[in-house]
Amino acid sequence: MTRMTIKTDIVVVGGGLVGASLALALRDTCWKVALAEARADTRTATGVPANGAAGDEWDLRIYAISPASKSFLEGMGVWQRLDARRVAPIHAMRVRGDAGARLDFSAHDSGVEALAWIVESGALMQALWGALERQPGLEILCPAAPQALDVGSDAARLRLVDGRDVEARLAIGADGARSFVRNAAGIAATETPYGQSGVVANFACGRPHRSVASQWFRDDGVLAWLPLPGDRISMVWSTPDAEALLALSDDEFCARVQSAGEHALGELRLLTRPAAFPLVALKSTRIISHRIALVGDAAHVVHPLAGQGVNLGFGDAQALSIVLRDALDGADPGAHLLLRRYERARAEDILAMQWATDGLARLFGSRVPGAKRIRNWGLNLVNRLPMVKNVLVSHAIAAQRPARSPQERIGR
Ligand SMILES: Cc1cc2nc3c(=O)[nH]c(=O)nc-3n(C[C@H](O)[C@H](O)[C@H](O)COP(=O)(O)OP(=O)(O)OC[C@H]3O[C@@H](n4cnc5c(N)ncnc54)[C@H](O)[C@@H]3O)c2cc1C
Repeated sequence: MTRMTIKTDIVVVGGGLVGASLALALRDTCWKVALAEARADTRTATGVPANGAAGDEWDLRIYAISPASKSFLEGMGVWQRLDARRVAPIHAMRVRGDAGARLDFSAHDSGVEALAWIVESGALMQALWGALERQPGLEILCPAAPQALDVGSDAARLRLVDGRDVEARLAIGADGARSFVRNAAGIAATETPYGQSGVVANFACGRPHRSVASQWFRDDGVLAWLPLPGDRISMVWSTPDAEALLALSDDEFCARVQSAGEHALGELRLLTRPAAFPLVALKSTRIISHRIALVGDAAHVVHPLAGQGVNLGFGDAQALSIVLRDALDGADPGAHLLLRRYERARAEDILAMQWATDGLARLFGSRVPGAKRIRNWGLNLVNRLPMVKNVLVSHAIAAQRPARSPQERIGR
């Protein structure tokens, strides 16, 4: 049997939020791009049922989209496709330690419109995939699961289960934490479980949240309440006690979450049954190899306490698209020089986010005597230093007041 071969310049494997955004960011370039996604229904590509229907149905998986990611999505016309009534800005953030420490941020004090925006995963996937439709130069292979990857000197050949081959000069792994591309390319990665799960649920609340996100660093994990439109919130509780929480009745569960959050929003009523995801940190030794680049969770998985996983991935997609867009006509998209440029551009952000999220998760998970005092002292100290707070906020909102723009990081 002769296999059909699709020849292209770039193949993106994985059409989750990050892979889909990268394929879109490469529109209107000289490159022919193929996007191979394993799942037939792309709305569920994040692994969570997308129930983002109208009314009181809200996705369990939501994202705090940073201003940098928002402007990336706006530049591609994706943000404009979202239903504004289902997007909630975060105007302020309150962080509380487990021994009375406080840290407060506000968009107003930082002179910006919002610290972040809460968006449903399913809605964002639909907006991205809607924008991908009928893009010239883009071939969508979906569902398409790879069986083998063979990287030669001049091309990467991807063998699909359905009998087709894709031959490309650059293969991009955007296929999540268990990346087939990363493994097939022999890029080593270490996965460290946190011994915690992220318990997610949505609630209606008795008091208005006033667009404030709250986070409690407790000795039984990190609890975050994120504002949804109306009097609703989405919760992410990173905890070692997920099983016990999920075993509670709805009323018991609401009472537990209410009291863990110091009754800050009055009575809570469950809108969606809770679900739990095991939390791991994943670090890969490289994010490139010969004719291969990794983006998103395929390259790194961070603790969700800072809500930055997908933002880090969008940063990868944007940086790689800038490098590839900048390449001269007729250049080889898999050239080592270009890939090194991408890797260098991302090194600082990835390391900083891994260091910060991992450090905080371990510091607040520690039962070592004295750790409680040190972590609460640290939070209070940051709160009293407006300069340090501004540095933290401006890092998170790099697109609005760029310390260094993505272009500068890439060396343009
Ligand atoms: C509890 C929890 C809460 C979180 N909250 C936040 C938050 O508030 N903000 C935030 O920024 N991040 C958050 N994250 C992290 C965020 O979910 C991930 O960082 C993000 O989804 C990664 O996107 P991705 O596209 O790289 O990977 P994925 O979402 O894993 O997508 C990978 C895609 O590749 C496809 N695929 C997989 N294997 C193959 C294959 N072999 N061939 C073809 N296709 C394949 C999959 O079907 C999928 O579509 C959270 C994570 C957890 C666990």
